[in-house]
Amino acid sequence: MQDPNCIFCKIVRGDIPSRKLYEDQDVLAFHDINPLAGVHFLMIPKDHVKSMMDLEEGHRNVMGKMMVLAPKLAREQGSQEGFRLIVNTGRVGRQEVDHIHLHIIGGTQQLGAMLPRSQGG
Ligand code: AMP
Ligand code: ZN
Repeated sequence: MQDPNCIFCKIVRGDIPSRKLYEDQDVLAFHDINPLAGVHFLMIPKDHVKSMMDLEEGHRNVMGKMMVLAPKLAREQGSQEGFRLIVNTGRVGRQEVDHIHLHIIGGTQQLGAMLPRSQGG
């Protein structure tokens, strides 16, 4: 259920420090070390799942729990008027940490465009 070399598994175990903002038996949320906006935190399942590409039926409950928690925690952190939820996935999605994580990015200022028009295709 854990990958000994995974940085986010190490955060779950407490081997690497993090600024936690929510934790239960299934889920951990902590502030991104390199925030892109006034509010930027990550939410992960405690079990090691590499990416969205690896989700199976058994992950339905924990993923659903995270989706419902996201707006609650975003509000608590100061995103009263919305936020952006990003799940970078695989090479194309430029995922850098191979433990599935939701980015919740918000604050009081409106964010930039989702992607530059020239991207993708
Ligand atoms: P991604 O490109 O979606 O895989 O993004 C990984 C995110 O993890 C980046 O926004 C990093 O700033 C963040 N990150 C990496 N290491 C840590 C850490 N030790 N604590 C908190 N956030 C981290
Ligand atoms: Zn992991």
